[in-house]
Amino acid sequence: MTELRIAIVGFGKIARDQHVDAIAAVSGATLTAVASRNASLPELPHFATIEELLEQGPPIDAISLCTPPQVRRTQAAAALAAGKHLMLEKPPGATLVELDPLIAMAAEAKCTLFATWHSRHAPAVEPARQWLKARRIKSVHISWKEDVRVWHPGQRWIWEPGGLGVFDPGINALSVLTRILPKPVFVTAAELAFPANCQAPIAANLTLADISGLPVTAEFDFRQTGPQSWDIVVETDQGRMTLSSGGARMAVDGEVLAEAPDEEYRGLYRRFVELAASGASDVDLIPLRLVADAFMLGRRTIVEPFVD
Ligand code: NAP
Repeated sequence: MTELRIAIVGFGKIARDQHVDAIAAVSGATLTAVASRNASLPELPHFATIEELLEQGPPIDAISLCTPPQVRRTQAAAALAAGKHLMLEKPPGATLVELDPLIAMAAEAKCTLFATWHSRHAPAVEPARQWLKARRIKSVHISWKEDVRVWHPGQRWIWEPGGLGVFDPGINALSVLTRILPKPVFVTAAELAFPANCQAPIAANLTLADISGLPVTAEFDFRQTGPQSWDIVVETDQGRMTLSSGGARMAVDGEVLAEAPDEEYRGLYRRFVELAASGASDVDLIPLRLVADAFMLGRRTIVEPFVD
């Protein structure tokens, strides 16, 4: 197998925390360069922008975009125009329709466009999906509450238009939900709490349903201190299934049935290598559509200003 030579663009928290080690661990993938205005990696070619990388950089086959969603569209277009396979951090864009020309460009250039949902690669997600297939689901509740100061320190972009606020992690829960449920869900109501000084919500309560009326509720909150929760609880005719720790553990009526160490980003890069081998794309916009609908339907309240 030929190596997929990858450059990371946007060397911030997630690139540092996850992407570098994941690329190193996956056979068939090599980190070849970094493009970031203020950050670099010792011993790797560094460029300030994606344009400089593409013009002056070493030969690469692929780009992994780890910049905030508001700036990805132009970078994505530049990468695809240069014939590079492209991996997008979640959420795939700041709007839904901006993805359409990128999907078309990728198809025309026979390049891979991979819109990633890292939480879907959590180890207990597939066991949960399989277990639910054979059960009658009665209700679902999501509790996705984390401390924004711990997980997104100093990230102003998250509070700007297109930054999604609490939906930045909340969309991970929706990516898992839409993977494990047998039928599609849609938003029926939403309450969004906006800090007085921010353009994105700090908390959100969603009500969703499927076509048969399955009740689904979700609580997203960025103000959680102490224990954090990334849990989905599904009541079924054969017991309560809990998918906890962001999808790392699955239990039924308290008995753990699946649990394994986190390898989400290795899973993403294995999939990227596989897709790039044939130039196939994988772009599922459903989680972003649900968030967009929550913004469209959401009843808004203003809460106290957020100070990082
Ligand atoms: P981050 O720490 O702010 O890093 C993003 C980097 O992109 C910045 O360090 C910056 O590097 C570059 N950047 C910022 N604004 C830019 C602009 N206007 N133009 C060009 N480059 C810009 O953010 P992050 O937490 O890594 O998140 C990035 C993406 O990964 C987001 O979509 C997020 O949802 C996703 N993600 C984050 C996490 C997490 O736990 N933090 C987990 C999973 C996924 P330079 O200043 O060096 O250019």
